[in-house]
Amino acid sequence: MFQSTPVTGRQDTEGVTPLPCPIIPLKGGANRSQFLMNDAPSAPLATALRAVYREMAARGLNVGASGNVSVRCGDGFLITPSGLPPERCAAADMVALTMAGERVAADADADSLAPSSEWRIHRDIYENTPEAGAVIHAHSPFATALACQRRDIPPFHYMIARFGGDSVRCAAYATFGTAALSTNALAALVRRNACLLANHGMIACGRDLEHALAQAIELETLCEQYWRTCQMGSPVLLSADEMGEVLERFRTYGRPKEGASAATYCIW
Ligand code: 13P
Ligand code: ZN
Repeated sequence: MFQSTPVTGRQDTEGVTPLPCPIIPLKGGANRSQFLMNDAPSAPLATALRAVYREMAARGLNVGASGNVSVRCGDGFLITPSGLPPERCAAADMVALTMAGERVAADADADSLAPSSEWRIHRDIYENTPEAGAVIHAHSPFATALACQRRDIPPFHYMIARFGGDSVRCAAYATFGTAALSTNALAALVRRNACLLANHGMIACGRDLEHALAQAIELETLCEQYWRTCQMGSPVLLSADEMGEVLERFRTYGRPKEGASAATYCIW
């Protein structure tokens, strides 16, 4: 389904079909596999979620069980299981949660896996950001290196506008898997669709799985470019006026046709 290419420059995703976010049918008595794999329409979303989790590893965004990904699904969302690397994940291992962070009834049978320890960040983003249809968390090498310096990424390159403003913020440190980390991430995500997490990694949000993956790849690429230019000294930053012009252009850049409500390429 996906090309397996390491992150070496700007790449967009291919072959990922954007999927709708249908209502999960709560059928009493169905076991977890039946629920996820036989009950349309959540089955294609679970398959697409697993494919993106694998693609994150193939693109060099994650190693082992680090990182996680989710997709909005009706009134709740599907998320990758905790501690299971992508190569060992089946689509039926994806975990369905409500916005209260509870498993849907059919997902709570004995052999089900725990949801990602970062489910609160994913849930809180969906609750606070109606535009977000998918969320990626990664420990990608360059984003994580910068996050360990607790640095915001300044406007060293105009493409920073793709994330909603003239910087990508670094959220304050909190222990992984805590509500405090989610609170800090949300503060860093105000008017942004991506952020770094101090001493941890990055978050990238998108309209759907394809967009979220493209955003995560773009952010990792920008982090690498920022790191490289910092090797030569402090980069010249774009001014507020220069970034203002870029942000204005991004309001329409890449839109499929005149008057379309969402850009294909930029903020949402
Ligand atoms: P999970 O395996 O629980 O998703 O945790 C990975 C991670 O990156 C925690 O921050
Ligand atoms: Zn993490």
